[in-house]
Amino acid sequence: MILDQLKTLVEMQKLDNKIGGYRILQEELPKQLSDIIEREVQATADLLAVETERAELNKKQRDLEGDIKEFVEKEKKYSGQLADIKTYKEYKAINSEIAYVKEKISELESQQLELMDQEGEIKERIAIARKELDDAEAAKREREGELRKKIESLDEEIEKTRAQRNSIAASLPTQIIKQYGNMIRLKNNMAVATSKDGSCSACGVVLRPQIRIELQLFKRIIPCENCGRILVDSSIDDVIKANSAASEDS
Ligand SMILES: [Zn+2]
Repeated sequence: MILDQLKTLVEMQKLDNKIGGYRILQEELPKQLSDIIEREVQATADLLAVETERAELNKKQRDLEGDIKEFVEKEKKYSGQLADIKTYKEYKAINSEIAYVKEKISELESQQLELMDQEGEIKERIAIARKELDDAEAAKREREGELRKKIESLDEEIEKTRAQRNSIAASLPTQIIKQYGNMIRLKNNMAVATSKDGSCSACGVVLRPQIRIELQLFKRIIPCENCGRILVDSSIDDVIKANSAASEDS
């Protein structure tokens, strides 16, 4: 009975849609997995980069500290010499050394303040980078295992669904199975289209009135004249229900 065949074809299409969904996941899930892994790698590298920056800054700070100490020592030495000077000329020379050293110290101290500002800013960036790494690690812990498991199970799910489809297909004439299989392969995984409001749900072409009437009778398998997909009138579920009600009554 053609109605049963069409019903089977609709069921087969549902299973092929499921397989199509799994195929999309087969592309999507490995991408999600590599995003998760990549995020952690990136966060680790970013944190290392700011920590290196901070280490370099701290080195500059230590160098500066050393320079300041040196100048402070010099200042002490010159100040000590002031007590022993004999001439005004000497006094003037040492005083100008002291002035130079003091100026140098204040210059270095203002550099020190600048570096402290920079360090404060780097500390904030380190906190942000560390938080991002924590989040990336948590996301990986949470999702990696589940994603890998899902990816591994997809082949099996596809195989299972395909077997299910093939087992219901067994009730159909070989010619129809062939036609269905070709459409699935050639027409973007869609072999069965619905005739709804007078057009093909797959390609959108407006169906001839004669075809529309025939489709509602469910007396033969009718392909879309435009895309070649097998057309099923959208009233099929209601017709099946009505038929089974009628057979129960009899
Ligand atoms: Zn069509």
